[in-house]
Amino acid sequence: MTIAANLAAVRERIHAACRRSGRDATAVRIVAVSKTHPPEAVAEAIAAGVEAIGENRVQEAAGKRPLVPSTVPWHLIGPLQSNKARLALETFEVIETVDRPSIADRLEQLAAARGVRYPVFLEVNIAGEVSKHGVPPAAARALLEHVATRCPHLVLQGLMTVPPWSPDPEQVRPHFVALAKLAEQLSILEGVGQLELSMGMSDDFEVAVEEGAHWVRLGRVLFGQRR
Ligand SMILES: *Cc1c(COP(=O)(O)O)cnc(C)c1O
Repeated sequence: MTIAANLAAVRERIHAACRRSGRDATAVRIVAVSKTHPPEAVAEAIAAGVEAIGENRVQEAAGKRPLVPSTVPWHLIGPLQSNKARLALETFEVIETVDRPSIADRLEQLAAARGVRYPVFLEVNIAGEVSKHGVPPAAARALLEHVATRCPHLVLQGLMTVPPWSPDPEQVRPHFVALAKLAEQLSILEGVGQLELSMGMSDDFEVAVEEGAHWVRLGRVLFGQRR
């Protein structure tokens, strides 16, 4: 299967999930997660029409990006260390993994120095797993208020989560519901607009779409197994 054929099949599944849940399919966009795959595969995905490219590692993306004709934004979806923040800002248009005030402050400083406003998602550790990155749900409001009041060069685009993995997507559904609910609660706060939801991966994206995902992050279902 080519990436274009995989993408067409995925779009069909997204459309079906939207029909089931009464959503508009144009509200769901795809971040093609190209980690471990070569620049040629990234270029193929972009040519096929994905809305964004997602990479986990700043260094890997920085090496690949100049080799790809980039007409879509690149999203950082992996953890970000302060010492990589500058390179991350130069490599990506969106950072989905802001999970603590210190990294928000570092990005704010860099964005201010460049005179740009930079879109970010807050990563939420929705199930409170000890092994996972992300702000605990109970601390999400404080982090959001920190960004909204102290980081004028960051644009709060939404919330992102990587829920506990399960072979049964129905087991993951409550976590998607929880993120959607949290976004709804936070969106009504002063100065915060509508927050988008980045949730759903190859094994559970249809359920995520049913529960309101605006961005699904898809690797294997588009590119095949990782090398
Ligand atoms: C790798 C990765 C994905 C894509 O995973 P697949 O299961 O291959 O679709 C999505 N989000 C994050 C944060 C990832 O690290």
